[in-house]
Amino acid sequence: MAVIAVVGANWGDEGKGKVTDYLAREADFVVRYQGGNNAGHTIINEHGKFALHLLPSGVFYPHVVNVLGPGVAVNIGGLLSEVDKLAEAGVPPSALRVSERAQALLPYHVLFDSLEEERLGKESFGSTRSGIAPFYADKYLKIGLQLNELFDEPLLRSRLSRSLAPKNVLLEKLYGKPPLSVDDVVAQLSGLRDRIVPYLADTTTLLLDAVEAGKTILLEGQLGTLRDPDHGIYPYPTSSSPLAGFGAVGAGVPPWSIRRIVAVTKAYSSCVGAGPFVTELRGEEAEELRKRGGSAGEYGATTGRPRRVGWFDCVATCYGCRVQGATEAAITNLDVLGYKEAIPVCTAYTVDGAATTTFPVSRLLDKAQPVYAELAGWKTDISGVRRFQDLPVQARDYVLFVEKHIRTRITWVSVGPRREQTIKR
Ligand code: GDP
Repeated sequence: MAVIAVVGANWGDEGKGKVTDYLAREADFVVRYQGGNNAGHTIINEHGKFALHLLPSGVFYPHVVNVLGPGVAVNIGGLLSEVDKLAEAGVPPSALRVSERAQALLPYHVLFDSLEEERLGKESFGSTRSGIAPFYADKYLKIGLQLNELFDEPLLRSRLSRSLAPKNVLLEKLYGKPPLSVDDVVAQLSGLRDRIVPYLADTTTLLLDAVEAGKTILLEGQLGTLRDPDHGIYPYPTSSSPLAGFGAVGAGVPPWSIRRIVAVTKAYSSCVGAGPFVTELRGEEAEELRKRGGSAGEYGATTGRPRRVGWFDCVATCYGCRVQGATEAAITNLDVLGYKEAIPVCTAYTVDGAATTTFPVSRLLDKAQPVYAELAGWKTDISGVRRFQDLPVQARDYVLFVEKHIRTRITWVSVGPRREQTIKR
């Protein structure tokens, strides 16, 4: 009975959705605490294959209460269409509670995200253009709208007119686009806001009561350590903290209640978006790994963009696990490496001629070169293995080597995208 955080040790896409779906079998609540529908969790179980964007990965268990905490960016239309898709696929309904204190991601956030990426051209951040950066900018500028405020028409109109004034200057003068009116935005919202009402709740009290009652709560992180605005690769982070520590804030549970922190990492590296990526592969080697990776190749679950891929990076992942405060790690996609005779693993960087195992600041990360150890491959399909001792010795050695270098015990080894393709150590 505890709060368990399932978080990413790297750039995101580590397979957190699969791990959360697996662990949710024994959970009472699964909670998203940050981010929005800008990234996807791929889940394959008895109901089919799903890409969840905003819904917590506990939605496949009718006994789980799924929660979007106050830290989440709620795109109401996106959320409702995910709910509809699950119903169409015949997934039995589970409870969904959306914090009335969470803020609404509005169509103009999406618009500004796209306009700014277009304006930046070659210098763009590689945003998914889901409106996340403009959303969090508004939140911290204190011009966002909490979901409960959408139903107070005078308040809504006065806040929108304040928020739209500077936005319209940008629209007209910087982007050369027509201005937005309060009426337009209210009209866009009117069809949607009524549909969110059944899900709105005081999730803060709900979760505080659940902690007191000793319930099991999974906090599901989006993206990973290297996308954290403070500890990640600036200026290429996401706009909210994907750290387990922020889970207490974004979900609304006491920090002391988070007893286990499972950092998820892949057996190789993948990265969506721009920024330094020390072990990145290019050309045919990259194409081969990309094609074989994940459940259907390494392509973004939200955007379909090819993900950048590379070998496992112990420097980045050790940092990623330590900053998360990981009490344990899960390594996914080990099966993917079954085609390799020998597998490079990055154990250190050289920066300006000096070797280091400490993850450097972004300015130096740009210059870092990987130092590789070469591990023996196992050249066989391990996707049917269910016990650690039944893995080929080379695969076990790979896990043990990584475990030592990331300084975190690996308790879960995933050998395929399906729920049952999971080994507990
Ligand atoms: P998340 O955002 O961290 O949940 O990760 P994504 O779902 O975006 O990406 C992980 C990808 O790896 C998805 O395609 C998963 O289906 C897939 N996956 C997860 N675990 C495994 C595994 O052990 N083996 C293979 N082959 N694919 C996996």
